[in-house]
Amino acid sequence: MDKSIHNFFYPDSICIAGASSKELSIGYEVLKSIKLFNYTGNILPVNPKADSILGYKCFHSIGEISAEIDLAIVLVPKRFTIDTIDELLAKGVKSIILITAGFKETGEVGEKLENEIIEKIKKANARMVGPNCMGVINTATSVNLNATFISEMPALGKIAYQSQSGALGAMILNSLRETDLKFAHFISVGNKADMNENDFLQFWQEDDSIDVLTYYLESFDNGFEFIKPFLLNKAPKPVIVLKAGNTESGMRAASSHTGALSSEDRIVDSLLKQAGVVRAEDVNELFNTAKGFEAYPIPNGNRVAVVTNAGGPSILLTDKLDKEGLQLSELSEETKSKLREIVHPEGTVNNPVDLLPHGNEESFPAVIKILLADNNVDSVVSLFVEPGVVKPMPVALAINNIESEKPVLSVIMPKPEFWEEYRKIPEPRKPIFRNPEEPAEVIANMLFHSSVKEIRKNGENEIANLFSSQNQNLFSNSYGFIKQNEIKKICKYYNFPLVNEKLISTDEINSEQIDFYPIVVKGISKEVVHKSEFDAVKLNIKNRDELRLAVAEISKNFEKHGYEVEEFLIQEFINTKHEVLLGGYRDESFGPVIMFGTGGKYVEVLNDTAIRSAFITREEIREMISSTSMGKILAGVRGEASINMDEMIDIIQSASKMIIENEGIIEFDFNPIIVDNNNKLHAVDIRIKFGY
Ligand code: ADP
Ligand code: MG
Repeated sequence: MDKSIHNFFYPDSICIAGASSKELSIGYEVLKSIKLFNYTGNILPVNPKADSILGYKCFHSIGEISAEIDLAIVLVPKRFTIDTIDELLAKGVKSIILITAGFKETGEVGEKLENEIIEKIKKANARMVGPNCMGVINTATSVNLNATFISEMPALGKIAYQSQSGALGAMILNSLRETDLKFAHFISVGNKADMNENDFLQFWQEDDSIDVLTYYLESFDNGFEFIKPFLLNKAPKPVIVLKAGNTESGMRAASSHTGALSSEDRIVDSLLKQAGVVRAEDVNELFNTAKGFEAYPIPNGNRVAVVTNAGGPSILLTDKLDKEGLQLSELSEETKSKLREIVHPEGTVNNPVDLLPHGNEESFPAVIKILLADNNVDSVVSLFVEPGVVKPMPVALAINNIESEKPVLSVIMPKPEFWEEYRKIPEPRKPIFRNPEEPAEVIANMLFHSSVKEIRKNGENEIANLFSSQNQNLFSNSYGFIKQNEIKKICKYYNFPLVNEKLISTDEINSEQIDFYPIVVKGISKEVVHKSEFDAVKLNIKNRDELRLAVAEISKNFEKHGYEVEEFLIQEFINTKHEVLLGGYRDESFGPVIMFGTGGKYVEVLNDTAIRSAFITREEIREMISSTSMGKILAGVRGEASINMDEMIDIIQSASKMIIENEGIIEFDFNPIIVDNNNKLHAVDIRIKFGY
C-alpha cells in the first residue's frame, strides 16, 4: 500500500503549519479539534511567534522539528504557502493537506500558484490533498483524528466520505447529532490539485475499516479511471455518488449525432449505472443509502412487506416501492393466519399490515418476526407515526433489537424530544428513517448494487479482453472524416453490413452504366456533414433519366451554398422498415462510449437512444438495445417477427471494438442502419472521424 496515502488517515504524527492562538481562527480551531477528540499520535504545531498553543509546545519553524512528520496540515496565509511546502518537502514530508484557499478557484493568478505547488509535490514524490479544503477525520479508536475546523466527531462507523465542497463537508459534520450518521473516514478534497476520487477509491476499496464509499462530486477528474475498476470487477464495495453541476449541455462542437445527444450528465448517469455505482439525487439519499449498506444485509429480492400504524404513510411508501421497481410481498396463508392472532379485527393482515394507532412495542416486533419468516418476504419496512396513545421509544427499541438475516428498515415519525432521548441510548443503534418513502430508495439502491455486481462478475473476462485490445491502431488516418474508400476497408474488417454502393466521379456520373436500379444518389463533399440539409440525397431513382435529373439538382443545391460536389455515391435503394442509429465517440473524461437507438433524420427530436461505455459485454449490449423503444420494436410488436438480434449485437460489439482498438477514432455515426422489409440490415450512411 502507498504509505503517503495511508498517512492521510493513519498518521503517527501531525504537523500543523500555521497553528494559531487566536480563537475562531482556522489555525486554532483545527488544533482544538485534534485535541478535543484525543488524537493518539504526536502533535507538532508550528507558529513563528507562539511558544505554546492549547497546551502544546509550539515550534517556531518547520526546520526546528526533529521528530518525523507523517502528515502536515498547512493553513498558513496564502503568501506563505510556497515557502511552507518547500520546508515540508525538504524535511521529507510525503503527505500534505493544504487547507488554505485562494488558488485555482479564484482565477488565473491562483491557478499558477497552485500549479507551482503541484510541480514541487510531484517532484518530491509526495501527495497533497487540497488546496481549499477542510481537512480529514478518522474515527478509528487507534487514531481518533479530527483535523478539521468543525469540532464534531462522528461516531465510529464503516462509511468513508469524500467531499469536493468544504461547505458540504461542514454541513454533514454540523448535522451529525441530528442524522446519527457514523463515519470511518471523512476527507475534504477541495480543488483536487493532486489527490482525487480515484486515489481514494482504490485506497478505500482495500482498507478493511471501510464498508461503504460515499462521494460528493462536482466534477470527475478522470471519469474513465473512476469507472474502470468497476467494469473490471475490481471494486467490490458499494459506492454512492452525489454528483452536482448537471447543467453543462451537449458535447461542444459535436458534429456527430452521438456527440450532440450526449450531455455530460447523461454520460455520468449511464456510465455510473453500467459500473454499478449508485447515483444519489440528494444528500438524504446519499447517506440513507450508505446507512442501509452499513447496517443491513443486502436483500435477496425485491419483495417488501410493510407493517404500519397509519394509512397515509404506507400509501406513500407503496407508491415509492412501485416507482423503484420493488413489489409488495404476497403474504402466505400461514403468515396471514398467524397475523390474525395479533392484528385487531379492524386492522389488515394483508400487506401492508395495518396495526392501527394501537400498534405498540409488543405487536410491532411480533408482526415483523412473522413477516420475516415468510418466504415471500425479502425485506420488511416498519412505519410508526407517534399516535398520542402509544409512546414511540419502546417501539423503536423493540424493532431495533430484532436480529434477522433480512433487512428490517424502521421509520419513526415522533415528536422532537424522541431524538434527544434516542441518542442517549448506547451503541449499537440501527438507523431510523424519517420519511416513509426513504426505505424504498435504500432497498432499491442496495438491490441495484448487487445486481450489477453479478453482471460485472459474469462479464469479467469479456471486459478484460477489451481492455487488453486497446489502442492497437489497426486503422489510422489524418485528422478529420475519412473517405468513402477507407470506410469500405473498415467495414470489411469489422464486418459492418455496408449497403451495396459505388463511388463515381462527377465526370463519369452521366455516362456510368448502373445495373442495380432502383438506386439512391448522394452528393459528397468534405464540407457537407449532413447531406439531407443540402438536399443532396435523392431516393428511389429508377432509371438513367431520373439519375441525370437528380445529379443536376444536387450540383445546383451545392452551388447555391458555394460548395462543389466532389463525388457521387450511388447506393442500392432499400425498402425501409426502420432506421437505427449506432454511434460512438471518445468522451474527454469517460473515454470511448457507444450509443444505440432510433435513427434517421429526426434522431435529436426523437431522442430514443441508450448510451454505454464501449467496454461492454454482449449481455449488456442486449440490455442496451431493449432499453430503447426502437429495440422493443425490433424485437417484434403486434405479431411482427423479431430481427436477428444476434446480428445487431454483433454489429454493436464490432463498433465498440473499433473505437477501443483505434485510439485515433474520436467519433463515428452509422445513421441510419436500415432494417428492410425482410429484416435485413444495411448501413447506408457511415461517418468516422479521426483526431488525436
Ligand atoms: P445524411 O444523414 O447525411 O443527411 P443519409 O445518407 O443518412 O444522409 O440519407 C438521409 C436519409 O435518406 C436516411 O436517413 C434514409 O432515410 C434515406 N436513405 C439514405 N440512403 C438510403 C438507401 N440506400 N436506401 C433507402 N433510403 C436511404
Ligand atoms: Mg445520415
